[in-house]
Amino acid sequence: MRDFELRRPTTVEEALELLAAGGTPYCGGTELLAVMRMGLAEPEMLVDLKRIPELAGVDDRDGVLVLNARATHDEVSAHPAVLQEAPILAAATRALGNARVRATGTLAGNVCFAEPRSDVLTVLTALAATVHLRSAEARRDVPIAEFVEGTLTTVRGESELLVRMTLPKQQGRSSYVRFQPAEYPTVTVAVVEPESGGCRVVVGAVGDRAEVFEYDATEQVDAGAIAEAVDVTEDLNGQEDYKRHLTSVMVRRAVAALDGGASG
Ligand SMILES: Cc1cc2nc3c(=O)[nH]c(=O)nc-3n(C[C@H](O)[C@H](O)[C@H](O)COP(=O)(O)OP(=O)(O)OC[C@H]3O[C@@H](n4cnc5c(N)ncnc54)[C@H](O)[C@@H]3O)c2cc1C
Repeated sequence: MRDFELRRPTTVEEALELLAAGGTPYCGGTELLAVMRMGLAEPEMLVDLKRIPELAGVDDRDGVLVLNARATHDEVSAHPAVLQEAPILAAATRALGNARVRATGTLAGNVCFAEPRSDVLTVLTALAATVHLRSAEARRDVPIAEFVEGTLTTVRGESELLVRMTLPKQQGRSSYVRFQPAEYPTVTVAVVEPESGGCRVVVGAVGDRAEVFEYDATEQVDAGAIAEAVDVTEDLNGQEDYKRHLTSVMVRRAVAALDGGASG
């Protein structure tokens, strides 16, 4: 690994100045340090977010759940408001990766890294999360479905910090299923019936980003049509036909799981 400068700001404003000066933010380091060790990223300055109190934890505010940038998978999966209001997020973050990743990895880091097989992206897309970004000059909010552009690519500018994500509370029934023969899942499916009506199906891991399918009612969900429509990347986890078949099976399972609540 190449030498780098390590900065440890204690306020968001200080962190934003460091990003404007070319710094790279990180929190758990579970992804960033791995790519640095492989020589795929060579930042000259790392900006550690772990000493910024404002970015810590999960908040339960009027009508929204707030996932601050430092919130780890373990913190999110154990939070009473997440268990109550977004059980599929609790189920996904409780089951992913390994104990070290869940203890140190953050949801913000997961979303910014934009690994196509992310459980977090599938579930947060189904829950219609919003990504809140700040730079030294501006703030902007981006729906998570528009945040990821493709494999390891997002709309985040280099000097923008993801400060928090928010998701609406009081969604209706929901379910989450994943097929995972290896370290990461091959197919992930989340289904949410928003209280406003309709049904949202999100398919992840088979292509380079989570894809959303909206219906007026759950009875209209067509697993076969979703499996035909979804973008598929062929890789060591399977060829196109296999992944489409798996998608159709997992969508049917996710819809069936609505009656039994969240399914990890
Ligand atoms: C062995 C292993 C297994 C895994 N299995 C799964 C799995 O099954 N499912 C799954 O969904 N995930 C899985 N993961 C991914 C895991 O969820 C992520 O590694 C973790 O959540 C990333 O968070 P982090 O804080 O460590 O990110 P970091 O490594 O600190 O950062 C990742 C990237 O995000 C950027 N970044 C971090 N925070 C911010 C911020 N606040 N604002 C702007 N940019 C930021 C960094 O610059 C970097 O580019 C696995 C990871 C490992 C190592």
